[in-house]
Amino acid sequence: MSSSDERGLFTRRSFLRWSQSAMALLGAAPIVGVGTASKAFALPAASNSADDYYAKLGVETIINAAGTYTYLTAALMPPQVQRAVAQAALHPVRLKDLQQASGEYIARKLRCEGAVVTSGASAALTLATAACIASANGTKPDQIPENVDRMKHEVIVQKAHRYEYDHAMLICGVRIVEVVTLDDYKRAFTPNTIMTNFFNSSESGEIDRKTWLDVAHQHNVPCHMDAAADMPPIENLWKYTGMGYDLVCFSGGKGIRGPQNAGLLLGKKHLTDLAAANNNPNSDAVGRGMKVAKEQIVGMVAAVDWLLEQNDDALEAEYMRRVDIIKQAVKDVPTLTASVNIPEVANHVPHLMLTYDPKVVGISPKQVQERLRQQRPSIELNPATGSSGRFGTLSTENTIVIGTWMLQPGEAEIVGQQVRAVLLHPKP
Ligand SMILES: *Cc1c(COP(=O)(O)O)cnc(C)c1O
Repeated sequence: MSSSDERGLFTRRSFLRWSQSAMALLGAAPIVGVGTASKAFALPAASNSADDYYAKLGVETIINAAGTYTYLTAALMPPQVQRAVAQAALHPVRLKDLQQASGEYIARKLRCEGAVVTSGASAALTLATAACIASANGTKPDQIPENVDRMKHEVIVQKAHRYEYDHAMLICGVRIVEVVTLDDYKRAFTPNTIMTNFFNSSESGEIDRKTWLDVAHQHNVPCHMDAAADMPPIENLWKYTGMGYDLVCFSGGKGIRGPQNAGLLLGKKHLTDLAAANNNPNSDAVGRGMKVAKEQIVGMVAAVDWLLEQNDDALEAEYMRRVDIIKQAVKDVPTLTASVNIPEVANHVPHLMLTYDPKVVGISPKQVQERLRQQRPSIELNPATGSSGRFGTLSTENTIVIGTWMLQPGEAEIVGQQVRAVLLHPKP
């Protein structure tokens, strides 16, 4: 890469960093469109660079060619959501008023009986568990978790659906009962069962989501579904509550593109009311530490509004446009073949898969990933890069995986140039 290219990138990068971190002031700032990207992705005009605390703190901004991963701060909020957040910061309100009104508004928009804005999908799962304990036992919030082992407290989960987010339930003091077969499942219900949890994007487990629900309802046990990363399609936001799941959680900061520390618990009103009772600002409750500030509650509502103005086809076309830009940039790399993979349930968006022979090209995908991380601008590739068995059978140790949906205007071009440069010049 010539030094003038480098300067071009640096200038471009400074602009991106400067404008991404700047909060548009109260809608006074005009929206600037960049390149041919749709308006929905345009960046707000920058405010004073003295407000750039990433720069002040020396925290590097990155190009997110991975996806909505929590450790990469997931999504950026669209400008209209950023403006709603900034405006909400101007006035105090009564937190309970805002929690209630936002829940009612979201429930109406997302076609369910009740909704709670939580501090994420994980917190939604905790509040769902507390709600199911309360529903089965008449428990007051201050009893959770200390006295839960003396109450009905069993949650049924498929063995294949055990996951890291089990902690979110376990902090309520419940016990998880594992099942494998449908017969196991039918036999697992006891008078102590309070809830079941279904991990929606799990690719394993013998029992499908409809059967899972039907059997639980035959026993009058409420079902929670973890659909945290399972939007798009947009209709999933009402599909699973519509099929009868009593409670469904989504991350607010993933595909919905709200604040990262926000999420949604959607479902039956009597249960979302109990979830709210176990939530902050009540101090004697398991949800006390799961506070969502007024700005983020408003941001979550604004993100739902933003999302309902989008459509899946247009968003996917934009993600594919970026895929094509990167594909084009690397097309003359020896042995390289490009394909596009759209995972079935979670992260259901186009991922570019670049597979090549590292012996011929002279660098492995893991090494490319590290090189892109080290150079400036720093680029994060999808974590499936260089590992097999992720994204079904499509990813191998010879595959670079690029998620395009979190790229900002102009960044697909940078990613394409940089991946190409590293593959064609593997020796630094
Ligand atoms: C991301 C994720 C969560 C946690 O979501 P947060 O909004 O970060 O709390 C929970 N479950 C699954 C399946 C997820 O993918």
